[in-house]
Amino acid sequence: MRKIYELSSHVADLIAAGEVVERPGSVVKELLENAVDAGASAVTAEIENGGMSYIRITDNGCGIGSQDVETAFLRHATSKIREEGDLAAIGTLGFRGEALAAIAAVSRVELLTRTAEEEAGTAFSLEGGVPGEKSTAGCPEGTTIVVRNLFYNTPARLKFMKKDTAESANVFSVVRSMALAHPEVSFRLLRDGREELHTPGDSQLISAVYSALGRNFALNLLAVDSACEDIRVRGFVTKPVSGHGTRGNQHFFVNGRYIKSRLLTAALEEAYKNQMMVGKFPGCVLHLDIRPDAVDVNVHPAKTEVKFVNERRIFDAAYTSVLHTLEADREAPALREREVRGPRTVSEPEYVQQELEGVPAAPAFSPAELQTGTRAFHTAVPPADSELKGDSRPLGEGNYASYRGGAADFYSVPATGGFPLRAASPPQDVKLVLTGTEIAADAVQPVTAPLPSTPEITAEDCVPGRFRVLGEALATYVIVEVTDGVLLIDKHAAHERMIFDRLRANPASVMAQRLLVPVVAELPREESAALLGNLPLLEEFGFEAEDFGGGSLIVRQAPGDIAAEEISSTLSELAGKLLAAGRTDPAARRDEVLHTVACKAAIKAGSRSSPEELRVLAEQVVSGRVKYCPHGRPVAIFLSRSQLEKQFKRA
Ligand code: ADP
Ligand code: MG
Repeated sequence: MRKIYELSSHVADLIAAGEVVERPGSVVKELLENAVDAGASAVTAEIENGGMSYIRITDNGCGIGSQDVETAFLRHATSKIREEGDLAAIGTLGFRGEALAAIAAVSRVELLTRTAEEEAGTAFSLEGGVPGEKSTAGCPEGTTIVVRNLFYNTPARLKFMKKDTAESANVFSVVRSMALAHPEVSFRLLRDGREELHTPGDSQLISAVYSALGRNFALNLLAVDSACEDIRVRGFVTKPVSGHGTRGNQHFFVNGRYIKSRLLTAALEEAYKNQMMVGKFPGCVLHLDIRPDAVDVNVHPAKTEVKFVNERRIFDAAYTSVLHTLEADREAPALREREVRGPRTVSEPEYVQQELEGVPAAPAFSPAELQTGTRAFHTAVPPADSELKGDSRPLGEGNYASYRGGAADFYSVPATGGFPLRAASPPQDVKLVLTGTEIAADAVQPVTAPLPSTPEITAEDCVPGRFRVLGEALATYVIVEVTDGVLLIDKHAAHERMIFDRLRANPASVMAQRLLVPVVAELPREESAALLGNLPLLEEFGFEAEDFGGGSLIVRQAPGDIAAEEISSTLSELAGKLLAAGRTDPAARRDEVLHTVACKAAIKAGSRSSPEELRVLAEQVVSGRVKYCPHGRPVAIFLSRSQLEKQFKRA
């Protein structure tokens, strides 16, 4: 046995410092928290070289009195708690009294501070935790701390630091989280002299969201605000139609503290269940205000993880609050359904409100229509400037007019004796059978070009592999008659699979297209860093992009099948997947890129397809070459003759 020694306080400090100060971002986090605890209304963070060589945090808070300056840098020295009992109800961000000591132990620190009561301020410095000069200095009320040469005396840790860009990205996300946690404080981040973030500090959460997460994110949110007993949940969640490619946009806060929580992620996503596409994730900025004694923040030195005393209650509160918000929003499609019936340009809520009263339900099939089959299903293309423009979604089940965008409506066509799917071409004299205003015929276009006529099936058609495309339903499903049954093919899923297989066999088959106008994709730091780290892989699939500064990428070339307006979202999705795949095997990363490109390049549900496209898809499915989409969902449903006969009570 070796002899046991007590470690010197210097070595003990270094070890303790390692827990609190992992990287530049953790220094910034601790110093910002101190500024907020000091009651600052404006805080500026400046970094150079990702924070490795220089970090400066300036606040206009209460300052540190001259007599307390040395004490503040001692381990377990704090002004925020006194006794054991205080631990049960912590109302400040800091309380462990470790941060300044830990930071000072592994860097060169300069402090400049003044309280309101003092005439002159105090300057103080430390090097590797060893106190240096203390002097009086003129300075405004508040505190400025400069941290230089982080980890200069711990070479082992220095080795673990990532590139400056990665550390900068981490600092950015730290400042962003603080800004979202404290809309009452104006935060500013300067990186190598350039302003990267600046929130107004006007106490409006949405202002902070707008400044910190960007316009795009801010415009696609629903407000959450509800209280379940003593748990208040407030903030914003993504509209179900605006899902993100990753979980990177989920920001949770408990009592003003940014936290990571699987529990809250699960609660959020549970609320979106069946409302958001597989592979899409809701974003959020959610604040939970709970009794301080209902949560333990003292489980992790960096305090990014918390322990809830009653997890079930927290889950339920978050889940029900979000669910209520989404449910309230779900009424919106129904409103739009009414909107379609009024004059098309009107979309003011008051108008819609009036319309709601006394508007009969959707017109049902009349017996006459059933007899003659004179009603066809077409897509009304809204005028370009209409509110209805935008994303199209597949129709909800049994709710024929509830989707946004290409609002589907019934209209009557002159009797042709055909059944709906056989309606030849868009009749010119069409009148909408809708309550209220009529819509001009030229606003209405058929889902596809004139459908091929469908003669009676003959014996020779009944050969395995024979098929006949009957048309397309709901701008999403190809209807195909095959031997002894009918196939309904999800055109997006089938097409996605085809592209996926083709790309996997031969990535060079991507038709890369130079963009006339380069697209600038504004992405979260982490995401753009992930993309920049995988440029060769992206190039292989036809992307040509480069750093455009401030987290943006400029894209000059992209796979031709991906629409220009889809490029940003495609890259964001890709980045998320690359981040998730991490440094694991390159094959997995390739597959992720394949998935994303295939999905984005595939025909969209809700879009119009030519008869030829429908035929090719049907052929692939009927031949058995395409069975499941790359996500494992089926691409087709088969209705056999006997199933149909049973349904119609013929059997
Ligand atoms: P803690 O925040 O856990 O109390 P720190 O080591 O971060 O521990 O800070 C020690 C003490 O120094 C704080 O309790 C506070 O009194 C003081 N202090 C630190 N930073 C500031 C600041 N920016 N403004 C005013 N006081 C500060
Ligand atoms: Mg602190």
